[in-house]
Amino acid sequence: MIQTPYYLIDSAAITRNMKVIERLCDASGAKALLALKCFATWPAFDTMRPHMAGTTSSSLYELRLGREKFGKETHAYSVAWSDGEIDEAVGYADKIIFNTIGQLERFEGQSASIARGLRLNPGISTSGFDLADPARKFSRLGEWDAARIETVLDRISGFMIHYNCENDDFALFDRQLTDIEERFGHLFDRIDWVSLGGGIHFTGADYPVDALAARLKSFAERFGVQVYLEPGEASITGTASLEVTVLDILDNGKKLAIVDSSVEAHMLDLLIYRIPGKMLTSGPHSYQICGKSCLAGDIYGDFDFPEPLKVGDRLSIADAAGYTMVKKNWFNGVKMPSIVIRDPDGTERVAREFGYADYEASLG
Ligand SMILES: *Cc1c(COP(=O)(O)O)cnc(C)c1O
Repeated sequence: MIQTPYYLIDSAAITRNMKVIERLCDASGAKALLALKCFATWPAFDTMRPHMAGTTSSSLYELRLGREKFGKETHAYSVAWSDGEIDEAVGYADKIIFNTIGQLERFEGQSASIARGLRLNPGISTSGFDLADPARKFSRLGEWDAARIETVLDRISGFMIHYNCENDDFALFDRQLTDIEERFGHLFDRIDWVSLGGGIHFTGADYPVDALAARLKSFAERFGVQVYLEPGEASITGTASLEVTVLDILDNGKKLAIVDSSVEAHMLDLLIYRIPGKMLTSGPHSYQICGKSCLAGDIYGDFDFPEPLKVGDRLSIADAAGYTMVKKNWFNGVKMPSIVIRDPDGTERVAREFGYADYEASLG
């Protein structure tokens, strides 16, 4: 038995998503790059590499990880490169995407040896959270003024436009892309590639993958560009869980179960976006499942179980891949979940365990 807590990554489930990505790319001509910001657990890369064109990044370290652990085509983006990073970044990258015209001009000489792009902010998005909305008021994410962008077109070969967020509505995607075509199409005519970013939930159940493929193909043909997609969440949705054990049961007017993990430390996004965790369970016995950190609101959510819970029971919290392992931290010194891969034949293999030495090394 592998000791909890651990993140359990199901490689067969990853392959299921990868097959959809492959089908979309084959039918549309688009290339798919894994967005490491969402998922960078590299022991799983062997399962993904055959099906994707490469990786994209949002920092020097993500870029380097993509180059060294994934390989293939490697895109480098950062909200702001520093003088000390730029040469190393150019050394790893096939394409570098600048967030602003200011950065493009500043690093023009140092980036001359590779393909360059600019982040375009179309001023629209599908995000429901201001915190994560790239088109929020005064957004620093990308250039939006077509007339200004036109003045640097001779120095770039493409654009990156990231404006979708878990968008499972193809009609909305289609409408917004049409809007972008109308406002920026004259720029697309003069470059070689356009990345439409991530955030399209095309591996979800019932998504019209063929319609998306046709739409991307018509976009590519109209402007004569190579289209890239940067799926993060769509690449790994539904592929991992956080495996925990019940340590204590309380009844304070409500039945509570404390587990050997922490929301704040191991599933931080649930707190940031104030969404409950997911557990695939039902029955007549309700419990609030709580983390073991000292934070009063360290709560995974309220769930129903077929039998009363007892100390030692194993629970499985779903959706533990995207924006989860990349955000884990040592808050409260809670033991860091191991990373375990379930191979296609069902065997569970420990890829990494963390101990006190890792905690100590993270602070001094
Ligand atoms: C976050 C991000 C992605 C990945 O988004 P998902 O919603 O996880 O698909 C892709 N590209 C850029 C530029 C991003 O910032």
